[in-house]
Amino acid sequence: MPTCRHCSSTYGREQFVHGNGPMTQVCVRCAVDTGIISKEDAANMYDDSLGSARLQIMARRYSIFMYIPLLWTLWIIVLSGVKPWGLYFLGLLILLTLLAPVWFIYRGGQYSGDMARLTPAYDRPKGH
Ligand SMILES: [Zn+2]
Repeated sequence: MPTCRHCSSTYGREQFVHGNGPMTQVCVRCAVDTGIISKEDAANMYDDSLGSARLQIMARRYSIFMYIPLLWTLWIIVLSGVKPWGLYFLGLLILLTLLAPVWFIYRGGQYSGDMARLTPAYDRPKGH
């Protein structure tokens, strides 16, 4: 993966502008920021709304793995000594923990579809 000359970030080849001289090894965001190309020419640019939409989908996909340790911690601190609710919630937590990976895999197709929908249609120029 190439590195941008301006921001030193590493992206896939499709995130770079094409050309010689000042356009060599410049990512599309830096190219727009420095005025090398206009925003309309940057077909492969992930603008702020697209970026936040993609982040939102990703956060929704992975948030379950943040909630499960949190719920376990809450259970250990608050409910583990309470009878009989501690036991009921322990069963619920075990069920949730076991179902989370299954749900994660099951929703994988939906996630890829959403990400594909939020990826700009862009054909690489020949030779790249
Ligand atoms: Zn850059």
